Formats: sequence, C-alpha cells, structure tokens
Amino acid sequence: MRKQLIILVAALTLVGCGSIGKKRVQTVQPEDIEYNVDRFYDLAILRYRVPDFENLTTGQKALVYYLSEAALWGRDIIYDQNGRYNLRVRRTCEALYQNYQGNREDEQFLLFEKYLKRVWFSNGIHHHYAEDKFVPECTEAWFRQACKEAGVSLADELVRVIFDPSVMPKKVCQDAGKDLLLHSACNYYDGLTQAEAEAWYEQHKDTTAEPRWIGLNSKLIKRNGQVIERVYRSEGDGLYREALQHVVANLEKALEYAETDEQRLAIQKLIAFNRIGDPQLYNEYAIAWVRDLKSRVDFVNGFTEVYGDPLGITGAWESMVNFRDDVATDRTRTLSANAQWFEDNSPTDPKFKKKECRGVTAKVITAAMLAGDCYPSTPIGINLPNANWIRKNYGSKSVTIANLTEAYYMASQGDGMNEEFYISDLECAWAKKYGSLMSDVHVDLHECLGHGSGQLMPGVSKDDLKEHGSTLEEARADLFSLYYMADPKLVELGIVPDEEAYKTQYYHQLLNGAMTQLVRIELGKNIEESHMRDRALIARWVLAHTDSLKPEAQIIERDGKHYLQINDYPGVRRLFGQLLAIVQEVVSTGNYERACQLVEEYAVKVDPDLHRELLSRYEPLGIAPYKGFVNPVYQPVFDEQGKLKDVLIRYDEGYTAQHLRYSRDYSPLPDIND
Ligand code: ZN
Repeated sequence: MRKQLIILVAALTLVGCGSIGKKRVQTVQPEDIEYNVDRFYDLAILRYRVPDFENLTTGQKALVYYLSEAALWGRDIIYDQNGRYNLRVRRTCEALYQNYQGNREDEQFLLFEKYLKRVWFSNGIHHHYAEDKFVPECTEAWFRQACKEAGVSLADELVRVIFDPSVMPKKVCQDAGKDLLLHSACNYYDGLTQAEAEAWYEQHKDTTAEPRWIGLNSKLIKRNGQVIERVYRSEGDGLYREALQHVVANLEKALEYAETDEQRLAIQKLIAFNRIGDPQLYNEYAIAWVRDLKSRVDFVNGFTEVYGDPLGITGAWESMVNFRDDVATDRTRTLSANAQWFEDNSPTDPKFKKKECRGVTAKVITAAMLAGDCYPSTPIGINLPNANWIRKNYGSKSVTIANLTEAYYMASQGDGMNEEFYISDLECAWAKKYGSLMSDVHVDLHECLGHGSGQLMPGVSKDDLKEHGSTLEEARADLFSLYYMADPKLVELGIVPDEEAYKTQYYHQLLNGAMTQLVRIELGKNIEESHMRDRALIARWVLAHTDSLKPEAQIIERDGKHYLQINDYPGVRRLFGQLLAIVQEVVSTGNYERACQLVEEYAVKVDPDLHRELLSRYEPLGIAPYKGFVNPVYQPVFDEQGKLKDVLIRYDEGYTAQHLRYSRDYSPLPDIND
C-alpha cells in the first residue's frame, strides 16, 4: 500500500537505512557503483545494487529475467493512465531530443532536456507527488521552432497541453465540493461526471462475501449517453491489449521457471486475468500469490494501487520483481524467536507486559526490477493485496526492500548533511561505519518487537488516546528499539557487531528529533505528522530530563550554530528506558490526559529561532527532497537451442539512456487509447 511511500519521503532523507555491514558474498562491492546518477529540479536519480543476484540458481535468474521483461512491457500503460496526452508528450519530446539540430549546450535546449527528464520521472506531465502539472522552462517559441527544424510534427493541441498551466492543471483532484472526475487530468474516466461513475459502480457492485473488484482493471467511458466499461485485457478489443499481450507472453516464459506449485498457479491466474480481464481471476491470482511463501523470487505485476483514481477504484499499473534477502530475513527471525526474553527484560511495569509474546517475522527482499507506477519513484515496502477480505481470510505479504534503503543511505553519504550538523568527525565516522546497519536494526526492533510488546489493561482501547494514539504508539515502538539496541543481548545474538555500534543511532535519533527533522517543516508551522512528533517527543523529553550537574546529553552553541553533544551514552539509554516505562503506562491505561501533556509539551511546538538557523544551514546543501532509481540491465545468455543458460547484470546505464531504450524497445501502445 502506498502509505509506505509517504513514510519513505518523510523518513528517509534523514533516517537513512541500508544493509552494508551484513555478511554476504559480494561480487560487486558498494564502492564499485556510482549511487548518484542524475539530479534535476527537486529530484535525484540513484542506482541500486542487486546483491546476491549472481548467486541465484539459473532457474531463479531466468525467472527474474522474464518477470522483468513482463514488468517493462507495461511501462506505456501507466503513462496513459496518468493522462490522455502523456504518451504523445513523451514521444514528441523524445523525438525532438534525438533529432535536435541545434547546439546541445544551448540554454533553451538544456531547459527542455530537464523537462523531458521530469516527464520520465513522473510518467507524465504532473508532479509525481504534488499532483500539479509542471511546464517547461524553455519558451514555447523555441520549442515550436526546434520541433520544426528537427522534423517533429506538433499539433497546437499538444503545445497547449505542454505549455498552458491552465490545461489539465491537476492529476488527481481531491477538493471537497468539486466534481472529482471533471477536475482531474488522470485518464480513468472519459466524459462522465463523478455522480454518473459512482452510480455505475453502485449498480455493478459485487456484494458477495468474496467480491470481485469491479473497476480495478477498466476505464469508464460515456459515448452517446451510454456508460461503457472498457476492460484492460490482452484479448479481443481490450484496452491496452498491445502492451498486455507482451506482458502475457513473458509471464508464460516465466511460468516455466516457477519455483513452487503455488507460484505456478499464481502466474497462471495472472496470465488468465490479463487475457480475459475478469476480476474473479484476479481474486484467484491474489489468493495463490499470498499462499506462495516458499519461492525465493517473487513479484508484483498488474493493476494494483488506487491512489491515482480520484474515486479510489481502478488500479495503476505497476511491477516490482524481487527475491528474498536471506541474511536480513534471518535477522528478523532471530529477533522474533527471542521476543519473550525482550518482553520480560524491558524496563516497563510487569503488569503492562505480555505473558506470552510473539514477535513478528519480517520478510526482507532485494528489488531486481522496478516498473510502471513503482518507477523511477519507488516505495520502500510492499504490503499487499489491498482487498481486506483476502488479507483476513488468506493472509497478506508485507516486506521491506533492503537494497533500495541501502542505495538511499549510500547516496546520502557525502551530501554534506552529517558534516554540517554532527558535532565532530567522530560521530561522522561512526555513521559511515555503523549507520546503515544500525538504521536497519532500528527498523527491525521497532517493527518485529516494539509494536507487539506490552498489553492494555482490561477495558482499555487503543482509541482511548484519540488523536495522540499514533504518536504514542510510534514512540513506544521507537523507545523499545532504542532501549534494546544498546543491550549486550544483541551482540550475543549476532545482530550487531559490537557494543559501540548503537551509539551512531542514538546520536542520529536525538539530533533528528530535536533539530534536523525540522528542515522538512515550513517556517512558522508546527510538527504535525505522528512519526515526526514521536521523534520530537523522545529527543526533547530526554534533553529535558538530563542530570543538571552532569548532563547525559545537551545542545551546545558553537560559533552561532547549535549542536547536539552526547556525554554519556549508557546514561541516555537509562533515560530512554524511563520514558519507555512512562509511555507504556500511558498506552496500557489509556490515560488521554497524560498523553496530551506529553505531546503538547514536547512534540508539537517549534522554536522559531532554532528553526530559522537549521533551514539556513540546510538549504545551501541543495539536497533533493524526492528520489528515484535507474534499473540495472539484464543480459540473457542463450545456448544453441535458444534456451536461456545465464543472465548477466550490469550497472552502467544512465538515466536518459535507460528511458530512451525503454521507449524504443518496450513501447507498443498507440498515442491515444480509447
Ligand atoms: Zn511504527
């Protein structure tokens, strides 16, 4: 579910996660790869590694390869779903880019190139996150003239779509009171009002216990007063058939390499669904897919998240091919196998502890190919399927993607953030040595143990803390993690390499909560988001409760700049433990009044002078708020019989080269799809 993308944007610029420091066979060392690939507007393009790919079996590599081909063939679909003219805009701009007759150092050309890069990033002409249309900074006159000289045909209609900010201004309109369909530029409906679409869905709704998801894979069109459902499918006159035929052909090849019977069934059902388009087949596919827990290689492929549809019904096309990261997955297994020990030894009051505590085992994966709505901008977690009845009756899969968080972390090294805000070289060196691993360990402790620990008193409900419930819940999980990452038990379990490693996360956590996370807030605004409130609460509470003579941690001023200084790490751990006991009691007893006090005193307000200082130190660093990826290149090697015998992986393709290649090799849809 896309929620995790939002967490990514909120957390990762500063949290930084990763998986260096893990013991694994590495054929490509991290330093061999250029993690930072490109930078334009508010966007940065990164490269990710696919560790362990070389160690997959030939069959697993073949499976990754054909699933990746099936992923790439869907690329045009997301462009068309995001807007009726997107494919035409992309193709026109690519044709100009490739046939341009003038000087490529010319300022107007460079502005145009930036625009094209942004179209690729957004899979269309609207900002991938803010949903607003962006227009080129080159002039319309230059663009018209350049197209003419390059022999690129250009309709006036298209020029307006590209240059006029008032044409299709918003991809997805969510303003209450407006007709959401008429004010949204996305292409899931044509000619209908919101009321007409809602009436159609109501009329066709499946009210059975295991309902078909009507509208997941179709577009509603009004023609001559009639509402028609155009289904996305490869057979007959199916919408997007030209792309789905290739998707199906590659899924059929992948089928030969399925690792388990469940996976084979899942792929078969997905093929049938893509062919025929019946949502019943989608249900059968989703159920087979959640039941396949053994295969190392796994995938998402198809019409999935519904955030792009103003009515939240039709799925945007996306794909992610991946395989299990066994090292990281084992780490979460170890933690959850020891869940009771952690519960019994926590500093909370015994009456708030669970008598029987089971940890959560997280599956960690390595992404091997990103496509459609997952590319170039990508979620760092997957939590599917979306249908609640499937989740309840058959289960779901929730995974984190370690090699993408690693790429974020590696790319952030040297962006100047730590050098500006960390108090000395020692803390910077710890971050380089342990930062990526400890931030993974923090997430694991938080997710696998923190949220599941503790119990509510009889009659108390999670909702008793009302609007502060999620802030306190996140603080509880964070504190549980922070308290334990410094425990010798983690060294004993082999989770952390030594008894110093936790210090980098402690430093980061306090600095971020007290200071650096504020750079993401506009001057004059309060802290609103619950993860940010949780971090502020923890850091400011600790700083307010230090020893007055020998403070465990403090903010000091040096040359007009403020820095965090930690004097006593074990002492900070004691304070984390004390706050954990308090927060656990508030949650366990549902003490709303105390929750309000904690949140209002420590988690909301922003000191305007400090805030101004932090922003003035942050802005010159020029760090991009949004990040996306280029994929690796997979090269199949065939034997004389034409059978795939190996797949080679390369990390040398640039951002522009990748998009031009995809447009050349994987672009079967017509300009306009009705
Ligand atoms: Zn959480």
